[in-house]
This record gives sequence, C-alpha cells and structure tokens, in this order.
Amino acid sequence: MTVHKYIATPSRTKEILNKYNFSFKKSLGQNFLVDSNILENIIRHAGITKDVGVIEIGPGIGALTEQLAIHAKKVLAFEIDQRLLPVLADTLRPYNNIEIVHQDILKADVKELIAAHFPAEETVQLVANLPYYITTPILMKLLKDRLPIESFTVMIQKEVADRMAARPNSKSYGSLSLAVQYYTEAEVVMHVPKSVFMPQPNVDSSILKLVTRKVPPVEVDNEAYFFSFIQACFAQRRKTLRNNLANFFRANLIKDEITSILNQVGIDGTRRGESLSIEEFAAAANAFYRTISE
Ligand code: SAM
Repeated sequence: MTVHKYIATPSRTKEILNKYNFSFKKSLGQNFLVDSNILENIIRHAGITKDVGVIEIGPGIGALTEQLAIHAKKVLAFEIDQRLLPVLADTLRPYNNIEIVHQDILKADVKELIAAHFPAEETVQLVANLPYYITTPILMKLLKDRLPIESFTVMIQKEVADRMAARPNSKSYGSLSLAVQYYTEAEVVMHVPKSVFMPQPNVDSSILKLVTRKVPPVEVDNEAYFFSFIQACFAQRRKTLRNNLANFFRANLIKDEITSILNQVGIDGTRRGESLSIEEFAAAANAFYRTISE
C-alpha cells in the first residue's frame, strides 16, 4: 500500500519538480510552499469549511490547492503557466472537486467564472499564495470589480501587507491602505519566514486577510475623484496637505481657498496626509469635488 504524502513537503516537491524537469520562472513569481504548518494556518485564518467555494490564484504544483480541496467544497484555480497543467493533472488526481482554469488572472472574467462555477447562494472565498510581482494589481482589480467574494486570505510581501492594513499615523499608511480599506477590513494575521518557500524569495512575507465590506465605510460623491484626491495628498509625504493640494489644484484654486475649504470640514491644512482618517479624506474630497464642480 502506498501512503499518500502531501505535496507541501520539501521531499515531495523535489520529487515532482524532478519528474517533470520543471525549472522555476522568476518572472512568474514562482515560489512554492513546502511547509504544511503554514498551509494549515492559511486555511484556519481563511475560515474554510466544507460549505465554502474557493478561488485560488496560481496553484503552482498544487501544494495549497490540495489542502483547499480537502477542506473546502470546491476549488477554482487560475494558473497562467501552461507547463504546470500536466503537473497539476497528476498531483491533484486524487481530488474531484478542483477545476484549473488556464488563464491570466488579470485578464480573466472572474465574475463570469464565479457565476458559472459556484451556486449563487454559496459563500466564495479567495485563498492564494500570490505571485509577488503583481500582488497589488491583482488585489485592486478583484476589489474594484466588486466580485461576490467574501474574503481574501493571501500570502504576499510583508511590506505590501503592512501598507494595505496600515492605520493613520504610521509609516506604512498611504493611498494603498485607503484604497484597500475602502473595500475591505484588512488585517495582517501572520508573518511568514522565507524558509517555507522553494526557492526562497528575497523578501519577507505575511498572510493578509481582507474581509469584503457590504457597504463602503464612507460616502463619497465620486470614487475616482476620491482616490485621485488621496493620491494628491500623499504626493510628497513630508509636505503639508495645503502644499500638496496647492500643487494638485494649481490651475483652479489658490492656497488660501484650499485652507478655507479644509477648514470648512474641520481639517487643519498644516497636517500631513498620513494623519487623516478615511472619514476625513472623504469629507475633504467631497468638499473639493463640490467646489470644483460648481
Ligand atoms: N500556490 C502555489 C504554492 O503556494 O506553492 C504556487 C504559488 S507561486 C507564489 C505563484 C503562482 O502564480 C505560480 O504558479 C505562477 O505560475 C502563477 N501566476 C503568476 N502570474 C499569474 C497570473 N497572472 N495569473 C495566474 N497565475 C499566475
């Protein structure tokens, strides 16, 4: 009798890589997980149960996919690298609740695929060890598309996870924190050592959990304007709001007008962007939007 050994061990991973003569593509962010404890932690933090449908991005040779298949109802996994398709067909053969989609996640119609693969009433969660070179574009695309995904539990670079979950008055707080937290409640749930990957990446990693908000935490008149206003406030981090905004509005408003609009919503123009809460950014962006649109 052969004892089934999980994919996420250094020895089984090496065996699979050798069998297929697989060479890692750095350009695709291929750092595979070889530690079953980390996988347990990811699954536990994601809150996966047998009622849940899961979307995975980048199954690799199937280390995380296998654990998801064991704990979830069904897994839909997007893999861009054609060379991995025969490998996955082999390593995931014991599981009948996995579908691999050979597509670039940035180009895929994820909404359509969710509708086609999961019943409308089913909870769908996203769990992934993301390719680090496109962490932010992937997450921002999926959040902006307002997909029916309840939560995102992702392994990403520590520095990016810190920025996404940062609170006001911290070094990591910026436009990315606000963009992510407009759509979700964000929390770094665990730091992860490099040693759990093969090959080891150059950067430290964290597991980030994003829980999708049903409604945004603030009401904004115009979302695109709100986000560009925030970016303007962080254009030069060390500059005051008044100075960053004077640059942003140079064709429309003078500094005194900027100070006065900020005062109307109770914000001192000598503050820096990093001290403003999302509520303050919304109040300020709405006030400027209304003035400019008059
Ligand atoms: N899930 C596996 C694991 O944890 O061992 C592999 C994770 S590895 C960090 C990232 C995976 O994403 C690779 O398999 C890579 O080929 C795939 N990938 C890279 N860019 C992608 C894209 N645009 N769309 C879908 N998959 C992508």
